[in-house]
Amino acid sequence: MPRAPVVRVALATPLRQLFDYRTGEHDIQPGIRVRVPFGRQQRIGVVMATAEDSDVTAEKLKAVLEPLDEQPVFDAGLLQLLQWAAGYYHHPIGEVLTAAMPKALRLGADLAAQEERWRLTAEGRDACAAGEPRRAPRQQAVLAALRAGECSATQLRAQCGETWRSAARALAERGWIEAFATDCAPTPAAATPPPYLAGPPLNDEQSAAAERIQSSLGQFGAFVLQGITGSGKTEVYLRVTEAALARGTGALVLVPEIGLTPQLVGRFRERFGIPMAVLHSGLTDHERLIAWREAYSGRARVVLGTRSAVFAPLAHLGVIIADEEHDASYKQQEGGFRYSARDLAVMRARGAAVPVVLGSATPAVETLHNVAQGRYTRLTLTRRAVQTVGPRLALIDLRAHAHTAGLSTPAVQAIERHLGAGGQILVFINRRGYAPTLLCTACGWVAPCKDCDARLTVHLHSRVLRCHHCGAEEPLPERCPQCGFAVKPVGQGTERIEETLAQLFPGVPCVRFDRDVVRRRGDLEAAVQRITSGEGRILVGTQMVTKGHDFPNLTLVVVLNADQGLFSTDFRAPERLAQTIVQVAGRAGRGTRPGEVLIQTEFPDHPLLTGLLAEGYEGFARTALTERREAAWPPFSRLAAVRDSAHTAEAALQFLTEARTLAEQAHGVRLLGPVPAAMARRAGRHHAQLLIESADRGALHRFLETWLVQLAALPSARRVRWALDVDPMELF
Ligand code: ADP
Ligand code: ZN
Ligand code: ZN
Repeated sequence: MPRAPVVRVALATPLRQLFDYRTGEHDIQPGIRVRVPFGRQQRIGVVMATAEDSDVTAEKLKAVLEPLDEQPVFDAGLLQLLQWAAGYYHHPIGEVLTAAMPKALRLGADLAAQEERWRLTAEGRDACAAGEPRRAPRQQAVLAALRAGECSATQLRAQCGETWRSAARALAERGWIEAFATDCAPTPAAATPPPYLAGPPLNDEQSAAAERIQSSLGQFGAFVLQGITGSGKTEVYLRVTEAALARGTGALVLVPEIGLTPQLVGRFRERFGIPMAVLHSGLTDHERLIAWREAYSGRARVVLGTRSAVFAPLAHLGVIIADEEHDASYKQQEGGFRYSARDLAVMRARGAAVPVVLGSATPAVETLHNVAQGRYTRLTLTRRAVQTVGPRLALIDLRAHAHTAGLSTPAVQAIERHLGAGGQILVFINRRGYAPTLLCTACGWVAPCKDCDARLTVHLHSRVLRCHHCGAEEPLPERCPQCGFAVKPVGQGTERIEETLAQLFPGVPCVRFDRDVVRRRGDLEAAVQRITSGEGRILVGTQMVTKGHDFPNLTLVVVLNADQGLFSTDFRAPERLAQTIVQVAGRAGRGTRPGEVLIQTEFPDHPLLTGLLAEGYEGFARTALTERREAAWPPFSRLAAVRDSAHTAEAALQFLTEARTLAEQAHGVRLLGPVPAAMARRAGRHHAQLLIESADRGALHRFLETWLVQLAALPSARRVRWALDVDPMELF
């Protein structure tokens, strides 16, 4: 191929364009990083395309200073995905790349660097077999890691701790292990051979699902794997991954939250015993670079990670799996580039001609719509792999029953009954802290956050008032600062429920599960351990407990405050409520005992609740789709939101009002707002939003294309921080 004289480079600037450079004597392909002159500085960018000539005049066209890679960092498929994302989310391509790439690579780190690796020698293998070393736990740890396969220095540090190197040296002196170096260039595709551990034989539904997905390996297909927790979805992921590995390809596995990665990594590691790359927000820049190298070189055939892992390079992508696809965490809700990793996963699979599996007990209403339209194929697991009796759901009418600090009499009686039968109980309340409000009963003063339109939450354990929106904290006052009378906490949070349960059931151990208790790595495992060991009998938890943990002895779930989701201004609130109830209910009766689920509500006749009880999530989703069709909400229309914030409410509204004026002549789109956010003031800034709705995706995007450029040029834009959110997940 002749050398292209010009390259088009994406640079991290807010400008929505590529920058042309002469290649000079270099042979540069798309996907390679280059160092280029930019104004008076030098920058590192990514070549998006090559060209024969440029619109920039010859005198002005500067030359690339140097290419940083020999092989493209992004292959053609990923480049296409990034460009598509920049277009769809209307975000500058340079900033899209910034979000997609590890910082170390943006700063010029070598992706194909030589890397220090360690492996077991034949003598080492014999020594292990003979049970050596008998003492020296740190050496044992290093040996154990290497018995599973060769490891990089970084992996050894992660698995064996900071002191791994001295242990490794001691072992190397005895001739049991050795270091070697490899480079990170992509390796050719090779079928990774078994032996893998055999999984359990799949049941009929699992087999049918796995076979259907496997038959799509090598071509695009979007599959929705729907099944409650415990129905064996992960076993299907493992089987499909095995088939992908057997073809010499790998799997990209996405999870919505960092908390879910260790469990899934554990399952994959145990089954395949092959190197994996793990990517999540808890990594250091260097760790992230190493994980990319593992994925890029093909040494890690399985890449598992949260949101931005959707951009990870895989030497030979074979399948993409997105677990808990309905989870809002897949949508980036901050910063400028607000993408949905779930939707990008589907786009990536399409471009790469591989199947994508979207797994969930409660697929997003949009996803079910795609199934109904024939775009996605649904595969259902209706039975629990281990136990087939589903939980019984019932409502408790809060208007008809007395309650103690938020726990109704029937709920308390049910807890007593299940405790008596030796079961475990989950009390679900989506609010941490002791109470959401501190009130003066004399003058009506309520403790406010100084920087938000919000009340401060009482945290009795740490004796502080805390804002759950901006994090502000102040000491808990003894008396009302306004009139000096006594103050009292009003309403319930996890701390208070825990206290009430301790009073009602003295001596029964209670475990609390919320972000105040689970803070560091290991806290979650410790809390889970207290439940699975049977030590904790009652579990009080927030949303955190709905995620993936298996508590086989849990027989009763009590949902305390379901009503919050029933009357929200956000059209997705009912969907989130239904998903939460189904997910929480899924915690009950997972062993051999049937489960019972009680939902406390003041609105027992609400159609959402009665529908959910009568027909489950399917019934709910059908009602939700009908309602959305009538109201022309997504997926029956396309939405985008412009959100801004400013020091004053006026400035926040003024920018959006001017933005709306610019759009008066627009065709095929409808503008709603601007309105102040439901909580207008947060962390001292005033927030507002303007919605743009259209029945036609093309019309919406054509409109945004021109309108955004005009917005950026508005003088009032300089007084606000603003961002566009295409397909917003949360409205306020
Ligand atoms: P999900 O991902 O839907 O929550 P899992 O795949 O984790 O479900 O399965 C739940 C439990 O059932 C796991 O302990 C798993 O090992 C087990 N399991 C799944 N499928 C089978 C099967 N076909 N035979 C026996 N056990 C199974
Ligand atoms: Zn007072
Ligand atoms: Zn606040």
